[in-house]
Amino acid sequence: MYDKICPTCKTLLSQFYNTSMLGCPDCYKAFEREITLALKKVQGGTLHVGKTPYGIELDKKLLDDYNDLLKAKERAVLEERFEDMNEISKQILELQEELKDRGLI
Ligand SMILES: [Zn+2]
Repeated sequence: MYDKICPTCKTLLSQFYNTSMLGCPDCYKAFEREITLALKKVQGGTLHVGKTPYGIELDKKLLDDYNDLLKAKERAVLEERFEDMNEISKQILELQEELKDRGLI
């Protein structure tokens, strides 16, 4: 499979896809195109609101939180605040599990 590797910390592009975490600031430069595409893809309508018939208010809140985190992450990436980005990515991953359980993503 096609993969890229960060020359500085040896993080693989596929690892970034799995975890959304970057190993070091150079990862961003190494995977810049893929990161930008991944962010666009997530924000481009892969979220399905209100798929479940119950708990829609909570679902909506979770999705709102999720979107806020995605925006915060994008800002962190653009501003090259990589520690923030990794922290936000952790929160996104946790929320993703919750959303998956609810069949929202
Ligand atoms: Zn790196």
